[in-house]
Amino acid sequence: MKFKASIAATLLLVTPAFAETLSPQMMDAAMVALLGNPKVSKTLDDLKADDTRSLEEQKRITEIPAPPFKEKVRAEYYLKRMQELGFKDASIDSEGNVIALRKGTAGGRPKLVVSAHLDTVFPEGVDVTVKEKDGVINAPGIGDDSRGLAALLSLIKAMNENGVATVGDLLVVATVGEEELGNLRGVKALFRDHADIDGFISIDGLGISRVVNQSTGSHRYEMIFKGPGGHSFQEFGLPSAIHAMGRAIARISDLQTPAEPRTTFTVGTVRGGTSVNAIAAEARMAVDMRSNSTEELLKLEEKLLALVKQAVMEENARWNTDKMTVEINLIGDRPAGIVEMDSPIVQATQRAVSAIARGPRVTFAGSSTDSNIAMSLGIPAVTIGGGGEGGNWHSRNEWYKPTDAWMGPQNALLTVLMLSGLDGVTKPALAVRQAGK
Ligand SMILES: [Zn+2]
Repeated sequence: MKFKASIAATLLLVTPAFAETLSPQMMDAAMVALLGNPKVSKTLDDLKADDTRSLEEQKRITEIPAPPFKEKVRAEYYLKRMQELGFKDASIDSEGNVIALRKGTAGGRPKLVVSAHLDTVFPEGVDVTVKEKDGVINAPGIGDDSRGLAALLSLIKAMNENGVATVGDLLVVATVGEEELGNLRGVKALFRDHADIDGFISIDGLGISRVVNQSTGSHRYEMIFKGPGGHSFQEFGLPSAIHAMGRAIARISDLQTPAEPRTTFTVGTVRGGTSVNAIAAEARMAVDMRSNSTEELLKLEEKLLALVKQAVMEENARWNTDKMTVEINLIGDRPAGIVEMDSPIVQATQRAVSAIARGPRVTFAGSSTDSNIAMSLGIPAVTIGGGGEGGNWHSRNEWYKPTDAWMGPQNALLTVLMLSGLDGVTKPALAVRQAGK
């Protein structure tokens, strides 16, 4: 849906005093009111002017390594920056997340989280030095999620310097454990420790026109095939761990999954065997399954696990033995979920993107991000882009180009103000959740 400036701002005046949420017309009017507000215009201008400084910040953050479970040094830097930007009480919680509360004028609710993630996929020792050539910046993690972290700091800076007062509270968070084996541990802890969160925004991804309102659920397994092992010639006749795994992979390869809701699988890594002339005693593989629907994910999982067990039975049957076994370990578990298109958080994001980008349509997608946990708890959540363009995510050749990068923090500002309300100007579009809901 396109933002229509023609819709009368007077509609805002008929907003019922205790409206739970705003109607689409009221949200259009609220956006008109925000865009017409001098303080908001000034803040939007400041965010654009902050572009170069923000890019420098992004590079600095990138050069502080943040491997999974080892985000501490980067977290401490981020804490210091938050404190310098005015959050004297910012702190690091028990899980390692950096947290600051930016109080609104209504005494707390609705409480909106604005976040980005600290961790990268890169292990210790990977060279994270930023390299630049012809306007393209290369470094592992430069976009994912250093851009989100820098955009978040830029947002805070501009809001604090302009004294932008929201109605609801903002909880500004840099999370740990978003990637891979971190299994969203940071955001899980956040929701465990804060029962009063009404909405959640993650800035993770580039550009601004792609918005994530579906969380792709994933289940990941490590499967370890074990057999007796032996010499390839003398002990021929024993079952092989590699052969058993091969049978399993062949069967998995032929699995069919729906295109909608998107459901996928892959055997991501394989390892095993000790030498060319030995019947393998052990082989292991890691399997990734994803879906935007929990139901489809569970269906796929059931089928896939059955195929693995069947492959072991076949390998045993082939050699008339029972010596081949498989150990199946769940190593990743992320819930699936969806935030409906008519939800205020999706509606607010749509309007903010249209107001800032004035061209490209918003596309909505499913992904696996920090928002998964909020969505699985029924808490409205979106993941929005931090601005700029890039590619080769999760690879050492990751690149970033700061094209219209300031649009990231600008989009975040308008989305936050729509949801939290601007004191004296607009009401929060985000509803206060009832206890236990
Ligand atoms: Zn990310």
